[in-house]
Amino acid sequence: MKIICIGRNYAEHAKEMNAAVPTEPVFFLKPDTALIRDNQPFYYPDFSKEIHYETELVLKICKAGKNIEPEFAHKYYDEIGIGIDFTARDIQAKCKEKGLPWEKAKAFDGSAPLGMFINKSKFKEVANINFHLTINGNTVQKGNTGDLLFSFDTVISYISKFITLKTGDLIFTGTPEGVGPVQIGDKLEAYIENEKLLNFEIK
Ligand code: MG
Repeated sequence: MKIICIGRNYAEHAKEMNAAVPTEPVFFLKPDTALIRDNQPFYYPDFSKEIHYETELVLKICKAGKNIEPEFAHKYYDEIGIGIDFTARDIQAKCKEKGLPWEKAKAFDGSAPLGMFINKSKFKEVANINFHLTINGNTVQKGNTGDLLFSFDTVISYISKFITLKTGDLIFTGTPEGVGPVQIGDKLEAYIENEKLLNFEIK
């Protein structure tokens, strides 16, 4: 399986990063070694002094597809979950400065804690899902899928032009504004609507 992440999919987040609002989806990959499951802790890596959380809804792909038309894209995912796209912001800034790829900053081991999933049929409208992150009990980031620049169906269709999607692949759909640093000892909890689906500690 592979993990595909969408960058800059919420306009307010692009602005807080001083990045242009994209005119087509931006994506990058993480390896399966990035995953943290079952609320296992995240170990702060020694190569960075600025690890940021990015809270994102995650789509689970349920059948293989290539060149998927947007109107059929909804058939290719059946569950929606929540995860963190951990980013070594200090390393990412250096990569950006030099025009280099982001993998060192984005794809490192443990950079993708993943919570539980909810069946898509439980949502009335996938374009109106609220989600949020708390750190030590305080809400630090909130999003709603109504603010996505590129809808779930659009990103599935777009990615599949370049890369075949397979069952079990995960798509991190982008973070809203409000990203920020984590510290050792922090307790993170991520929710879709009022349901806590992810809960882990920084060690
Ligand atoms: Mg992200």
